[in-house]
This record gives sequence, C-alpha cells and structure tokens, in this order.
Amino acid sequence: MTHTLELHGRHIIAGRRVGGERTFRSVPATGPARDFCAGTPELVAEACAAAAAGFAAYAATSRDARAAFLEAIAEEIEARGHQITEIGTQETGLPAGRLEGERGRTTGQLRLFADHIRQGGYLDRRHDPALPDRKPAPRPELFIMQRPVGPVAVFGASNFPLAFSVAGGDTAAALAAGCPVVVKGHSAHPGTGEVVGEAILAAIARSGMPAGVFSLIQGGNRQVGEALVTHPAIKAVGFTGSLAGGRALFDLCAARPEPIPFFGELGSVNPVFVLPQAARTRAGSIARDWADSLALGAGQFCTNPGVVVLPQESAETFARAAQAALAKVAPQVMLTDGIAQAYRGGAARFTANNKVETLLAGQDEGRKAAPNLFRVTAADWLADEDLSQEVFGPLGVLVTVSDEDEMLAVASALHGQLTCTLQLDDGDLALGRRLLPLLADKAGRVLANGFPTGVEVADAMVHGGPYPASTNFGATSVGTLSIRRFLRPVCYQNLPAGLLPADLAG
Ligand code: NAP
Repeated sequence: MTHTLELHGRHIIAGRRVGGERTFRSVPATGPARDFCAGTPELVAEACAAAAAGFAAYAATSRDARAAFLEAIAEEIEARGHQITEIGTQETGLPAGRLEGERGRTTGQLRLFADHIRQGGYLDRRHDPALPDRKPAPRPELFIMQRPVGPVAVFGASNFPLAFSVAGGDTAAALAAGCPVVVKGHSAHPGTGEVVGEAILAAIARSGMPAGVFSLIQGGNRQVGEALVTHPAIKAVGFTGSLAGGRALFDLCAARPEPIPFFGELGSVNPVFVLPQAARTRAGSIARDWADSLALGAGQFCTNPGVVVLPQESAETFARAAQAALAKVAPQVMLTDGIAQAYRGGAARFTANNKVETLLAGQDEGRKAAPNLFRVTAADWLADEDLSQEVFGPLGVLVTVSDEDEMLAVASALHGQLTCTLQLDDGDLALGRRLLPLLADKAGRVLANGFPTGVEVADAMVHGGPYPASTNFGATSVGTLSIRRFLRPVCYQNLPAGLLPADLAG
C-alpha cells in the first residue's frame, strides 16, 4: 500500500494539537515508521485540568445532546474509514477486513449508547414519596438518580485498536454517562489513535461540546499512564491490557489520597469444558472448531479459549484433530514485537516443563506467531500454578481428567475468568448442572456449545469477571451495562420541585 496519509504526530488536548520536543518512533508491522510526540506528566496535567473545567457543562448537557454527539463521532469515524484502515493495517498487522469489521463494531457501540441514554433507563430513577403522617417519624421525599462521576482516564488496548481504544467502548460509555475523557493512546497504534482522535475533535466542533471533553495524550513512556491515574481530577479509569501493567496502575489508583475505581480487564484463559457424552460423540468436530477459535487473529483476544478440559478417554481423538487443524495455520503477524516475544517465552515455559507433552511446537520468527498445542493431566495442571497463566497468542493446553470429580476439581480451582464454556449433549445435563454454579462463580459469562471469542455488544453482555479477569467483578467493559462504571447514585431528599435535576423533574 502506498504511503498517502499525512499525520501531525501531536497530542490532542482540549481541541488543540500540541507538540513537544521529545518524540518516539512507531514500529509498524508494515509501512513507514513515523515520529509521534511523547507524552509527559505536564501534558497529562493540562488535559486533566481541561477535562475538569469542562465537566460541569458537559454533565449538564441533555441526554439528547450527548446522544447526538456520540452519533456525530460515529459519522466522523466512518468519514475517515479509508484512512483508519490504511494506518491501522500498517501499525497492527491486522488484515483490512478485520479492521473494517472492528470499525463497524466501534460505530455500532457509539450508536448503541446514544439509544441507551435517550431511553433513560440507565439513570435507574427511584422515588419514595413523603409519608408525613408516618409514626413514630415522618418519611421525607426521596429521589435517587445516577450522575456522572467526573473525568475518566482511558487506556487504549493493543489488541482492539478501534473498539477498545481512542473511541472504543470505555470512551463511548464515559461520554454517554456525561464524563469527559482523557485517553492515553497505545504506543502500538499511535497513528490510528490520531485519526480517530481527529474524528472526535470534528464531532465536538459540530456538536458544540466543551473542548475539554476529550484529550488524547500519546504514550512513549510509562510516566504518562502513572501521571494520568494519579491526577486528582481523574475520578475513574478504564483499562484493557496485561496483568502486570493493570495491577501496577490499579495499585496506584488505590494508593492515591483520594482512591478511585480502576476498571481493568486483565488476564483470562477462558477454559472450555468438554463433557463426556459430547466428547464421545463429537470430539473431532469440537476440536476443529476450537482450533479455529484459538488461532483467530493470532490468538490475540482476551476471550481466547486457551484451555480445554476433557475426559482422558476422548483426549487422543481430540488431540489428533486439533493438532491437524492447528498445523495448517500459517504463522500470523502479532500486534507488537513485545507481544510476539512474550508469546514465545510463554510457549518455551510449557515446552521446558517435563510434566507437559508437546503436541505441536509452532515454528515462527520475528513478529510472527504459529500455534502451539500441549497436553497435561489435571493432577499435574492443578499442582503447577504456572500452567494456568494466560499466554497471549494461539497457545492451547489440553487438560485431561480421569472422572467427573476431577473435572469439577479443575473448575473449582480456576482463577477468575472472562468466560467459561460448556460443550455438552443431552446426556451431559446432570454433570452440567453440577458444573454450572462453579463456573458462574468464576466467570463473567458462561456459554454452551459455542466458543467465546465473539463478544456481542448488547444489553445482556458481561465482559468482566472475578480477578484477574477484571479488577472489579461488579462491572462489564462491553455492552450497555458498562456505563454503570462511570456513574454514581445521588439521593435528593425533600428538594423543592424547582430544584430537582431535569432528569428527575421531567
Ligand atoms: P500493557 O503492557 O499492559 O499496556 C497497556 C497500556 O498500559 C499501555 O498504554 C501501556 O503503556 C500502559 N502501561 C502498562 N504498564 C504500565 C505501568 N507499569 N505504568 C504505566 N503505564 C503502563 O498491555 P499491551 O501492551 O496491550 O500488551 C501486552 C500484554 O498484555 C500481552 O502480551 C497480553 O498478555 C496482555 N493483553 C491482554 C489483553 C486482555 O484483553 N486481557 C489485551 C491485550 C493485551 P505503553 O504503551 O507505554 O507500554
């Protein structure tokens, strides 16, 4: 592809494109490397101060005005579709089709939030009428409603350069709630972030929103993220990324003089439980479908089903089919050199473990990854904590169980997961009923006879779960319920009608 895009390489702070002396150079999978201004704590402070200054005016906008703003962002992203695909494919190595699909998801979730706030149910308005004659004491009149929390920090994710990045789900939810957003751009796709940031800027101008409602600070060093989560103006954080990075930022949020919620979506191995009858009747076809899901997008999905738990008696059939399917998958480009290196390191840990049988050793190099497949008994898997850690990429582990009780023991030992999957037939229902409550304790989403990699953006979706799947088990980062992360309830007691907020008075 020819290099047609002109990028300014600067930050976007409250409507201004701001440069700086220090730069970092992007490391694209293809195409030219480009220079971008590096973020600094001073620039973060400027963006946070503008967000704080714009908060009252933005929080006071009508739901209709904010909905129109979200729709304008979607339109401006669509207007820049070709540019986004051009720079996005270069920076991430993801194919154009994937990025186009992700763009549709991104604009779709902006429009979903527009509809959601127009309907108003998210305000969760409640009213306890006054009971002046109640004995022994009268009851006051009480109204409750959800209010925006204040400026929100968003960390773009490497693996969803659009749907979980500058104008992704966290930003859409925060803006819908009435919160200004300061985005820390991911250094793996700064150009993509810039083009999307420009789309938001154009939408702000069209909609007459306060300039401070959006800023994008490019990365380049760790100080940017640290300064952002510790800035006193920031009241909540949305994050998708590694367990180590997320935990470090979570700890910084908790240690602030005013601690704030950190909504981190971290690690998950998304186990698939193949129950005995399903394993006996269709181990081969489940294995092939699982292999497709595992290798999708070079395995760089937080919902990648990295672990399969299945009966020993069907393990050989499953392993042969999975091995044959995965062996046909050509090495795929990963998002960054660092992610490719971490993937190889993870695979090497499994290969070196003498309790683990290597069924397929991926041959890859540089930024590419090929699938790896391993097999281990449940007893050995349960005894070695390292084997249950996420390896980001197309690495699969078959955990074989000798009986139903051992399958239940594996379920009980799981850490928090984004998803758990059951592959089951009619004859498996009794075991399914025993497994389900265990899995529901561990995961944000439990699904049957499918694979978890597709995450529907919808009202009834949960993309979260107990730690380390997320740092806040009461929340989701996908779907309309995700707006709740950036709201807090306020009770209005005995207020004269003329003083009630418009959303309560109406
Ligand atoms: P990451 O290293 O956690 O980085 C995510 C963001 O947090 C980046 O903006 C990064 O800044 C910032 N950051 C990380 N550690 C920080 C710290 N100690 N202080 C301040 N800022 C910090 O994640 P990634 O780059 O997306 O991918 C690396 C690994 O994350 C993968 O190998 C995979 O294991 C995991 N991952 C998981 C998911 C998931 O959905 N669960 C998704 C993507 C990646 P810089 O840009 O400056 O590094």
